[in-house]
Amino acid sequence: MDRVTVFTLGGTISARGGDASRMTGTEVLAGLGAGIAGGGLDVELRDFRRLPSSSLSFEDLAALADEVRETLATGSGVVVVQGTDTLEETAFLLDLLCETPRPIVVTGAMRRPDLPGADGPANLAAALAVAADPGCAGLGVLVVLADEIHAARLVRKTHTTSVTTFASPGAGPLGSVVEGEPRILLRPTGTSAIHPLRFDPAVRVALVTLSLGDRGELLEDLDTRFDGLVLAAFGAGHVPTWLVDPLERLAGRIPVVLASRTGAGATLTRTYRGPGSEHELLHRGLIPAGPLDPAKARLLLHTLLSTGAKSPTGYDRPGITAAFAHVTGAGLA
Ligand code: ASP
Repeated sequence: MDRVTVFTLGGTISARGGDASRMTGTEVLAGLGAGIAGGGLDVELRDFRRLPSSSLSFEDLAALADEVRETLATGSGVVVVQGTDTLEETAFLLDLLCETPRPIVVTGAMRRPDLPGADGPANLAAALAVAADPGCAGLGVLVVLADEIHAARLVRKTHTTSVTTFASPGAGPLGSVVEGEPRILLRPTGTSAIHPLRFDPAVRVALVTLSLGDRGELLEDLDTRFDGLVLAAFGAGHVPTWLVDPLERLAGRIPVVLASRTGAGATLTRTYRGPGSEHELLHRGLIPAGPLDPAKARLLLHTLLSTGAKSPTGYDRPGITAAFAHVTGAGLA
């Protein structure tokens, strides 16, 4: 019988009543009713955390990645159930940290279990079907909600309340679950990362989002407290002219990744060449995030710095640049 291990971390799927308490993993699985028995699956439960996903820490996620890796090594598929607020970050981090001989699927719910139309049981049942299906292996970590199957590297939460909040801008889902069966339509090119990568919770990477008229005070405050910076810049990677020199100074000391705050599309490299343009910033030492959104770029930089891309004398700019290019597809060996 196919075995799937379910890690429950809390979130809306377990937030009956909406107060601070969260249901146990056993109660969350019980919401499936006959869903498991009917599927002929051997489901193992790890009641891992009972938290709103906004309160998951780096330590929680490092421990989760370790346990997921150990579970995969036993031949089990994996489903991670957590709140949707940070679901895309957990999924992408697992994508970076775990090679996937069996599928790893992350799911959650948008409606509490005590509200009409609660989507948790349907999402969990679909996630189990995907995790148990060998045809869904080799796609990287997957996110399954609303019967859609998304790649962790592309997916984002795009709406505060909609049950179809998860979308993969610029690409779309890899497939869907129809009558309880996964149907894959598209396969991603390559992987998100060149494994193995490590994740050290002590590494500090800042994420700063620019807004009109920004004078750069937050950049000044970064100083020595961070090991890296992701800048969610305007458009395809643009900043005010007066921030170019401070950013170049920062990039001389720590890696500074240039991402876009727009929510879709890749950063450019050579379309705009004037002061504050992407072309100038890359020549001043910034590293392009390519298609990675700022939150994912932050996690990739974090894992690279955890895996030895920094030293007391500086950081490995070519190595970090190549790792970001790999996600774009340009650096595939
Ligand atoms: N959507 C929230 C989460 O991501 C709900 C909660 O606080 O449980 O966990």
